[in-house]
Amino acid sequence: MYQNRHNPSRGYNGNSRHQGGRRFNNRGSKRPLDPRMFVKKAAPLIETQYEPKNAFTDFALNGLLQNNIAARGYTKPTAIQDQVIKPILEGNDLVGIADTGTGKTAAFLLPLITKISKDRNQKVLIVTPTRELASQIQDELRAFTKNMGIYSTVCIGGASIHVQSRQLSRRPHFVIGTPGRIMDLEKRRILNLTEFTNVVLDEVDRMLDMGFIGDMKYIISLLPENRQSLFFSATMPDSTRAIMNSFLKNPVTVSVKTGAASQNVDQSIIETRGKDKVEVLHDLLIQKEFKKVLVFGRTKWGVSKLERDLLDRGFKAASIHGNKTQAQRQRSLNKLQNNEVQVLLATDVVSRGIDINDISHVINYNPPETYEDYIHRIGRTGRAGNMGIALTFID
Ligand code: AMP
Repeated sequence: MYQNRHNPSRGYNGNSRHQGGRRFNNRGSKRPLDPRMFVKKAAPLIETQYEPKNAFTDFALNGLLQNNIAARGYTKPTAIQDQVIKPILEGNDLVGIADTGTGKTAAFLLPLITKISKDRNQKVLIVTPTRELASQIQDELRAFTKNMGIYSTVCIGGASIHVQSRQLSRRPHFVIGTPGRIMDLEKRRILNLTEFTNVVLDEVDRMLDMGFIGDMKYIISLLPENRQSLFFSATMPDSTRAIMNSFLKNPVTVSVKTGAASQNVDQSIIETRGKDKVEVLHDLLIQKEFKKVLVFGRTKWGVSKLERDLLDRGFKAASIHGNKTQAQRQRSLNKLQNNEVQVLLATDVVSRGIDINDISHVINYNPPETYEDYIHRIGRTGRAGNMGIALTFID
């Protein structure tokens, strides 16, 4: 058994403290963020409950799709689903300001699946920042389109372009991909962007953070004039707004940006005060509440080193970062999901799209560089109505 080497009776609360909730965005500045500026105590869970005005059966969704929604166990719409399904079904362009974990994937998939079920010549392009998110959207799409004869292909980097090319030649109704690979396929004349009469840009703020601005402008410039365009982002800095204006026509705007994701997360600072941070982490991980833990590091190198340190100490750990292949990342995610490992280590690049509902703790081993990164990191816990705990180390 592991021993707590500092103080066996001390839980994480012993050296943590809650801070006031000022918002802070340090984008563009070289000065590292002090997480004390934005770590805030979680509001009671009760405040985040939302009573939808509609049942799924109130929406004019395809009948088979209604069965698949029920089979998936969704009993009532989330806030974003409640508010966007109708305007999308009516053919409007739409801006959805929503955190991950709000159910925004189904919010755009359900009306678009209904649209395809009525007109099989329609095609949908969904552009996402990460490979993981693209795969998760496809998983959700497959569950919703069971027995409907609606097909999809995922076009992401790190996977065979030849396989994707073959799949595209079967003319799937949905193409879900990351900007770089979509652009690559277009330039090779494998993907004809002018065919997509429905386009979703998902997590646009993140795509811009990741440097996809050029790719996104290129993709938008080749889309047909006559299309339905849906735009989702958790935040709306000026760069995001500029892309939005070039993409949408008379959009309906729906915002569920209530901070709900972070309200379900109990946030604390841990001051390491010159101690070896690996030791501090060790002392946390041996506590029984730390069942399914996501640890964020700043660099790929740092994450790999920490993974080796934890494995050497006998912890079960896996990692995901930009140097890993898509298959390796998926294997690591599955291990955390299936409780084969206790700890998953990750960098920010792959933080979005980690959709595991019962992560007990997020630990910021290195502080995030922006407020948005912080929100996205801690949004990996406290999902689907659970309470989560986020701990941020500061030196
Ligand atoms: P998303 O924000 O789309 O990543 O969804 C977050 C999580 O909530 C996913 O695990 C979804 O499967 C789940 N979810 C989405 N909509 C509903 C719903 N209406 N009822 C229950 N769970 C949902």
